[in-house]
Amino acid sequence: MAKEDLECSFCGRKKPETNLLIAGLDAHICDKCIEQAHGIVLEESKQSSNTELSSELMLKKPKQIKEFLDEYIIGQEYSKKVMSVAVYNHYKRLLQPASKDDIDIQKSNVIMVGQTGTGKTLMAKTIAKMLNVPLAIVDATVLTEAGYVGEDVEGILTRLLQVADYNLEKAEKGIVFIDEIDKIARKSDNPSITRDVSGEGVQQALLKLLEGTTVNVPPKGGRKHPDQKFIEVNTEHILFIAGGAFDGIERMISKRLNMAAIGYKAASQDDILDTDNLLQYIIPKDLKDFGLIPEIIGRLPVLSYMDPLDAKTLKAILTQPKNAIIKQYEKLFEMDDIKFTITDGALDYIVTKAIEYKLGARGLRSLCEEILTDAMFELPSSKEKKLHVTKEYAEEKLDKSTLNRLKAVS
Ligand code: ADP
Repeated sequence: MAKEDLECSFCGRKKPETNLLIAGLDAHICDKCIEQAHGIVLEESKQSSNTELSSELMLKKPKQIKEFLDEYIIGQEYSKKVMSVAVYNHYKRLLQPASKDDIDIQKSNVIMVGQTGTGKTLMAKTIAKMLNVPLAIVDATVLTEAGYVGEDVEGILTRLLQVADYNLEKAEKGIVFIDEIDKIARKSDNPSITRDVSGEGVQQALLKLLEGTTVNVPPKGGRKHPDQKFIEVNTEHILFIAGGAFDGIERMISKRLNMAAIGYKAASQDDILDTDNLLQYIIPKDLKDFGLIPEIIGRLPVLSYMDPLDAKTLKAILTQPKNAIIKQYEKLFEMDDIKFTITDGALDYIVTKAIEYKLGARGLRSLCEEILTDAMFELPSSKEKKLHVTKEYAEEKLDKSTLNRLKAVS
């Protein structure tokens, strides 16, 4: 057959009418048909990725969700339990076909209260990892009311769209973690004379996102691109998790508890308060006293707290989670065929320092870096195939380190 008589077996175009004609065993395909077929493949895989979420969720009951969280998050038993139920209910609601009765299941947006470095962000990240949904982490401190310097609340959804590679369907089932929600608390109980740009106003603006509406979102974010076309994002199925340290809220909790105690019969032995961890007694009213408006509290109906991290927990964080810091260093050294070991004494020393520097779990990593930098610099180009870190070794490295200066500051 003459070359120009060859034709695409799919659409019948002759070779001269195509840009490219690829030969198979008994057939040919032209560039246009390849493109079309490629489009079909993409469409198909998009649909299957949407059902991925549902099948994954169908498999996981709250207990299994918690087991997954256990692999990455040490302690925080209460918070992990509450979160497992909230996530399960949230996605159960999402996967439910439109209900025939009038029972409308409310969104289970979550608010987590706990000191910095206790695992709030880690919790949101782990859940997003488990569900394979996009996660946007935003800082409430940069948010302002529309028209003021800062970021509009819609920017939160821009972030989510970006993380989801602009796949709207994926973004609409994603998770938004709003960090430092306590920083947009109303500053005082008196309505201020000047407008409260960064506090109550932002809370008001956040309300509509949390409740589940359609929001016009500038896909590129910000106000720098005034000509961009807005994308309509429905927040109905987006799970919002807010976190904050709420410094000083313990005082409000304690005050409330003391008031409640007045007039009671003599407190029994069981009623003795654990004053080291007052957050465990938190109720929504405390958030209101702190300065969150009741509407926001209502839209974040699941309230959870994080326990402070004690030495035992910090030590476990170093070695136990699936991607524990020590495991990561082992792996790094292993790539250079170096066997890295660390003594129990050295681990205890790192924990003591983390507590001393008030760095929480976040400090563990910086301390390890300080201790191991010399070895990570020297060993890959030396013949030494072993690194054994003892307490003395750790002490010596840290004494020299810049972190020591932190002590002077704090
Ligand atoms: P937060 O958001 O509460 O300020 P993060 O979740 O960012 O704290 O925690 C900081 C780091 O400390 C994380 O990267 C994580 O490795 C570690 N971490 C904190 N709490 C835990 C925990 N309970 N279990 C395991 N790792 C933790």
